[in-house]
Amino acid sequence: MKPSPAGRLGAGRRFAFALFGAAALLVLAATGPAIAQTAGAKPTGTAPTSAAASGTSRYPKLGSLGPDDPLYIQHQEQLAASYTALRSGGPEPELVMYVYEPRRVVDLFSLAARLNLPYETLATLNRLDRAREFLPGETILVPSAPGLFAPEKASTDLDYLISYRDEAQGASLALEGRGGPSRFVFFRGARFNPEERALFLGLLFRFPLPAGRLTSGFGLRRSPVSGRTAMHDGIDLAAPSGTEVYAAREGRVSASGNDPVLGEYVVIDHEGGWQTVYGHLSLRNVRLNDRVESSMMIGRVGSTGLSTGPHLHFEVRSRGEARDPEPLIPKGTR
Ligand SMILES: [Zn+2]
Repeated sequence: MKPSPAGRLGAGRRFAFALFGAAALLVLAATGPAIAQTAGAKPTGTAPTSAAASGTSRYPKLGSLGPDDPLYIQHQEQLAASYTALRSGGPEPELVMYVYEPRRVVDLFSLAARLNLPYETLATLNRLDRAREFLPGETILVPSAPGLFAPEKASTDLDYLISYRDEAQGASLALEGRGGPSRFVFFRGARFNPEERALFLGLLFRFPLPAGRLTSGFGLRRSPVSGRTAMHDGIDLAAPSGTEVYAAREGRVSASGNDPVLGEYVVIDHEGGWQTVYGHLSLRNVRLNDRVESSMMIGRVGSTGLSTGPHLHFEVRSRGEARDPEPLIPKGTR
């Protein structure tokens, strides 16, 4: 992702700074280097003018994202300076926050490209944990520097992954988000690591039983065995007895044995606090503490334990909590 060529932006620069240069500050309170706290002077145009401006309306609003949009040109100038500082190790320009409200549906990747920002910068700042489209009128925060924004209170799986970074490498700041003020740690210049990217893009896990037919989904259901309503912590995939079952992701076998309910089962621990569980197997092909690769054959479909016919019971857990596996596994890997 490269900043726009400076030449294209040169003409608008003086104009834009004259109009909006002092107005663009944004960050409510900040600690750490390179996040300035400038009191906003009274701006012209449509930018908010009052100190009482609250919420995201305190940030200057990008318009057409084209050459006729002085705030966009100013944003691109600031962004170019930020990329230059990152490359050269020079002093970091202040972080300036803008908002953008699309007129029509725009997907995350197109918008990020238009803004010359990494998609993960927009995604983390706007609290997306999956790639999606922005809707008309939605308020999108747009920063003047690339990086990752980790909320101080992690709540999504993606938050937890990002929060493993050393906080000392980031800068703490308070921002007005769509849900009100919240505190973030900003890791300037940081990108998703492969695990974060895979989770965000829905590529973290592979399907463990490509030949399987989904016979029972995740969540509350009437038990096929007892007839009572109970939580189903995974999904059931029917396939002929003996069909190969694959590890959904690389990891280490943390449990393998026989259970009255799960039958012959295998549990694999994965990086980032994830686990996958494979139950009712006819055969286990791995032993405790084995390292397994993604797609390695770990066992065969069976009907052991509490089961009404040959199928795989498959669970995904994150930090001990069962997650619906379906949205975590792209259909393409089935
Ligand atoms: Zn099941």
